[in-house]
Amino acid sequence: MRCRTGINISSIFITHWHADHFLGLPGLIHTMSFQNRTDNLEVYGPRWAGVPSLFALINPRFEVDFIEVAAGDTIKKDSFCVRVFAVDHVPNACGYVFQECERPGKFDRSKAQALGLQPGPLYKTLQKGKPVKVKNRLIVPSDVIGPPRAGRKIVYTGDTRPYEGVVEAARHADMLIHEATLADDLTEYADTVGHATASEAADIALRAQVEVLVLTHISSRYANANLLLDQAQQVFKDTIIAEDYLSIEVPYKD
Ligand SMILES: [Zn+2]
Ligand SMILES: [Zn+2]
Repeated sequence: MRCRTGINISSIFITHWHADHFLGLPGLIHTMSFQNRTDNLEVYGPRWAGVPSLFALINPRFEVDFIEVAAGDTIKKDSFCVRVFAVDHVPNACGYVFQECERPGKFDRSKAQALGLQPGPLYKTLQKGKPVKVKNRLIVPSDVIGPPRAGRKIVYTGDTRPYEGVVEAARHADMLIHEATLADDLTEYADTVGHATASEAADIALRAQVEVLVLTHISSRYANANLLLDQAQQVFKDTIIAEDYLSIEVPYKD
């Protein structure tokens, strides 16, 4: 509500059932119910026996569908799809790749003009993928429209140790949101508790060749995240630290 995005969202993706990752859910669902929501809400997440009793406890006025996911699954939505990948934290913990669908290729106006095409209905026909005729000459879409352009890719890890599977999943992503619970002096301890350090997260970003790395899940032992930011940026320069209400524009590459 404070972000002004509205809370009438349709789907929520849970990476694992540790309290810091799902205890906000009962309050959020209760607020939605209080605001007279009627649409179903989909909650995606890995297997957990406690899910039914969690939703029974909230008992909202609308339906909450829990959809169990596992690494390798793909969830298709209208303009994007979500791929589930394994992380290394607790059994079944997962991350999500949000992959926007391909966009149509660029329309080359100068080429169109050279072919005698005037802006208007014929442009639209070509953009819909159909050929048109100009002065008895057949013009097909590929004459004036470039190849389809990739959609944006945003990858969210949840909690994880540094993990090769994340490098795979995050390859060439426009944004990688990776946990960095601890600073580098606690590398061994981070491994013990199933988390990553700042420079470990940065190393994943570097090897996956992502555009931007956003660090999150910083331990509350750090009064501010400057130390972690420094350590990460020595490995991967385009790093920022997530904070409440942070809003980031993800531009298209082309
Ligand atoms: Zn956790
Ligand atoms: Zn956590």
